Amino acid sequence: MARRAPTHPVPNPAIPRKSRAAEATRFPDPHHDHDVCAATALDAAQTLCLSRHERLTPIRRQVLAIVWRGHQPVGAYAILDEMRRAAGKNVAPPTVYRALEFLQLQGFVHRIESLNAYMGCRDPGKPHSVQFMICRACKTAVELHDDRIADALLAATSDAGFTVQERVVEISGLCARCARLHGASPPPA
Ligand SMILES: [Zn+2]
Ligand SMILES: [Zn+2]
Ligand SMILES: [Zn+2]
Repeated sequence: MARRAPTHPVPNPAIPRKSRAAEATRFPDPHHDHDVCAATALDAAQTLCLSRHERLTPIRRQVLAIVWRGHQPVGAYAILDEMRRAAGKNVAPPTVYRALEFLQLQGFVHRIESLNAYMGCRDPGKPHSVQFMICRACKTAVELHDDRIADALLAATSDAGFTVQERVVEISGLCARCARLHGASPPPA
């Protein structure tokens, strides 16, 4: 069953549009304190679950923590492997898929279709349309919430009489750091 695309948030007039887009385009510094990112995401998920009367069960929390081990999207089988290692026993794939489905429905993780992988949402508190920039070299993915892209897509598709169900935009390329390291030509995908 296709999940309905989240409606994009009402623009906050207090924040100029340009600065919101610019803020979102930043790739994480490789030396940043990632424990802070992961802890913030887990805390946010816990708080949102409480307010939504949902349960962040130990399994769901564990899956979310694995997805948040970095800024590189993680595939379901890599998550399963990690859970098996941690548990020291077999973990059934449906356990992971059910947890991922929950996390996705709550907006805690996004699925990257082109990589068949999941990444943590950096702003799970509000529904948003999202575009992903995926670096082919370091595999880091960053979400962009650019209303201009969302608005342009909506206008173009409605002109075509098309009913949108999912608005997933995935852009592959090189982050600024990898572009400096590798030059303009990206390594093969
Ligand atoms: Zn981080
Ligand atoms: Zn998001
Ligand atoms: Zn990169």
